[in-house]
Amino acid sequence: MPPYLFLEIDKAKRKARAEGRDIIDLGIGDPDQPTPGYIIEALHKAAQDPVNHRYALDQGMPALRRSIEGWYKRRFNVNLNPDTEVLPLIGSKEGIAHFPFAFLNAGDYSLVPDPCYPPYKGGAILAGAKPYLMPLRRENAFLPDLNKIPKSILKKAKIIFVNYPNNPTGATCDRGFYAEVIKFARKHNLIVVSDLAYSEMSYDGYKHSSMLELDGAKDVVIEFHSLSKTYNMTGWRIGWACGNAELVQALAKVKSNIDSGIFTAVQFAGVAALEGPQEHVTNMCRLYQQRRDCLVSGLKSLGWEASNPKATFYVWISVPKKSNSISFASLLLDKADIVATPGVGFGESGEGYIRMALTVSEQRIKEAIERLRKIG
Ligand SMILES: *Cc1c(COP(=O)(O)O)cnc(C)c1O
Repeated sequence: MPPYLFLEIDKAKRKARAEGRDIIDLGIGDPDQPTPGYIIEALHKAAQDPVNHRYALDQGMPALRRSIEGWYKRRFNVNLNPDTEVLPLIGSKEGIAHFPFAFLNAGDYSLVPDPCYPPYKGGAILAGAKPYLMPLRRENAFLPDLNKIPKSILKKAKIIFVNYPNNPTGATCDRGFYAEVIKFARKHNLIVVSDLAYSEMSYDGYKHSSMLELDGAKDVVIEFHSLSKTYNMTGWRIGWACGNAELVQALAKVKSNIDSGIFTAVQFAGVAALEGPQEHVTNMCRLYQQRRDCLVSGLKSLGWEASNPKATFYVWISVPKKSNSISFASLLLDKADIVATPGVGFGESGEGYIRMALTVSEQRIKEAIERLRKIG
């Protein structure tokens, strides 16, 4: 397994905090706002019922699977069979990391974007297979260039990961790109894993699609989604996989050997989240959009190179020419008490960038900009 590259920054952050320094933490992609009250109430009620204290069925509650079906229908106009094409997960990371066990053997490859969310690589390595890194470059709008993947790799590749809206670059993609990936996957006999964790976190009226909206997608696609970012529920551990029944059921089979389901009371909370009032989502997007505008305009006023992401709560920023992502992140911490994540922590192609997360208040963002202005 590769070493955990964020560890050094994390250690330095702890040390700075222990010294009593006032750290502005733009490093973590974890919502700072609370879970909406109606979801907490649903948990509270379900937790009181002893029926919910026992092992949960490994396929997830039928009511939750139906809620997911209904949400996909309303949001994307995609039809899912709740019995075979939907699988609740203990957070989508869990499913993303376990999925390769169902399909990858030693010598196989998984095609993963670089930079990327780390479990795409970790899952392949844990399953004894290898990740092949597809660089995401600014000049290509942070989309992978599928034509650059060598034939010899494609022969041994079984899975391709796509993640838009993207962590860490904040990039989005259109349906044309999704169609290209589906065509490519059919041609080379690949399974497509689409990670849609950020579909609800978007700005300026932009709405992202699901890959499952495209014709023929269900032949090759499994899509992962999560309540974590949409409803500020990262600590609750609830997400799901949906799409091609064979792929979903293969993951269910692996999982039945590993875990014993999601705490039933949390599943009831998931039903409440998906079926309850959705104003929270609009308000959340408004809040992040204000923070985004504040951070990006502030950075630009300092002459930094940064652009407004249309989705996600990440701003992906070029570091000055003569520094690298780790030294620049260290400099920000030492000189301004600001934590940002070095891009190289997400993969080699993340070198030259740092990631800032919009998970502190606008006032703190302004304070961060002022500190940067002061140190020049
Ligand atoms: C946050 C995030 C998730 C969601 O993870 P959970 O395990 O559901 O909390 C999935 N994919 C990406 C790229 C993320 O950044």
